[in-house]
Amino acid sequence: MRQRVLIVEDEALMREVIRDYFEKDGYDCDEAETGVEALEQLDAREYDLVLLDIMLPELDGFSVCSQIRKKSSVPVIMITARSDEYDKLAGFESGADDYITKPFSPKVLLAKANALIRRASGRVCGNADEVSAAGIVINTGSHSVFCDGAEVELTPKEYDLLLYLMTNKGRVLTRDTLLSRVWGYDYFGDDRTVDTHIKKLRAKLGDKAVHIKTLIKAGYKFDENA
Ligand code: CA
Repeated sequence: MRQRVLIVEDEALMREVIRDYFEKDGYDCDEAETGVEALEQLDAREYDLVLLDIMLPELDGFSVCSQIRKKSSVPVIMITARSDEYDKLAGFESGADDYITKPFSPKVLLAKANALIRRASGRVCGNADEVSAAGIVINTGSHSVFCDGAEVELTPKEYDLLLYLMTNKGRVLTRDTLLSRVWGYDYFGDDRTVDTHIKKLRAKLGDKAVHIKTLIKAGYKFDENA
């Protein structure tokens, strides 16, 4: 699954440099020139990472970040140019996960981004080929799934769906998000497609099914503490 990054920066050249670097590393990139634009894009699409410049016209990076935090736990890296910004950032009051100071090496930024995404998807602990939570283990190398050590046979879509839910555990995922991320943006399905697959997935997961929670009107969430 390719990771999607939103680059929020008013300087076109800076956006271009960052974009080039991230695209070469296999990321899909979108750009926003203003904070308002960034928030609109975040509403419309699911991102794996946000690179957020602090000095933006109108709404600054701090405000954008706290707006993001009201509804999403997407990893945010703040890009700062001034030392007073740095002071503010030290406390991470705005909810940013990491920061980088201009001028920076795109290589360092990319390394920070990769680390945050790995951490966010829970793949940092244990085996790199494994995603596990609540006694469910997904081996992403062999595409096999185990519940308390017993292998469970899933269809490719059920597998993708479970993997997406588990790598985003604790996050509320709308049906639209699941449709676009698991089935693809150009898939003409409807909400029932998601519901049907969730139902089948739960049936196969047996007593682990409780970890896939239905949130009325919101969507689904993988809750490892359920
Ligand atoms: Ca700027």
